[in-house]
Amino acid sequence: MINKLTNIVKPFLFLLAPIHCEVCKKELTEFSQFKYLCMTCFDSMPLAQNCEYSFNILLNHIPKENLYIDEVFSLFEIKSNNSYMDSIYSLKYLGLYDIGFEFGELLGKKVLKEKKFEYQISTSVPIHKARYRERGYNQSDFIAKGASNTLNIEFDDRLIKRKIYTKSQTLMNKSERKINVSDIFDIYSESVNFENKNIMLFDDVITTGSTLNAIAKTLKEFGAYKVAVATLASAL
Ligand SMILES: [Zn+2]
Repeated sequence: MINKLTNIVKPFLFLLAPIHCEVCKKELTEFSQFKYLCMTCFDSMPLAQNCEYSFNILLNHIPKENLYIDEVFSLFEIKSNNSYMDSIYSLKYLGLYDIGFEFGELLGKKVLKEKKFEYQISTSVPIHKARYRERGYNQSDFIAKGASNTLNIEFDDRLIKRKIYTKSQTLMNKSERKINVSDIFDIYSESVNFENKNIMLFDDVITTGSTLNAIAKTLKEFGAYKVAVATLASAL
């Protein structure tokens, strides 16, 4: 109950505080083009490697014969400077879901420059309904909406469902993650027909790609032609 109340109150408390950059915490001036990001942090954002480079790194984590992902896009990388992860923390845990939309639009612009294929449908990595109840929203929906807006792709949040409640990925080691993600996703029976369509799948962070690859596998089993993944942060 206390948790629930805190979750409801937090975003309103934030509205009373001065609006600041979610990366450096400095107060935003009227010159900022963004609601949650100052121009200094925008200009010095450690942009993630391009799609082709990221795809080759992904192949170090997942052998080619088990890889169902066709393209990989990320906005920023977090190995050299992880202060940008603060924006994702605020997006996930402080109720600031609008950050997802704003950063999602930036991600969309980067994808536009790098993509090789055209995508017809976008969707997001689902969170289990128990976690959805606790948090009140799925952060990746907002990333997907912002990026899909820029990319002009139709967003569908009722494509994939999570069958099993899993413990947080960040608390697990690599082999635990692989076991954990196998066979936990399914397709909603009433989903639109996406056979032979190209789908772009959104999440907040890519670490090993195993969760995203498990979903890509499920989408392809149900007829998707190509599956791209796009995340705000890359830890690849
Ligand atoms: Zn800043």
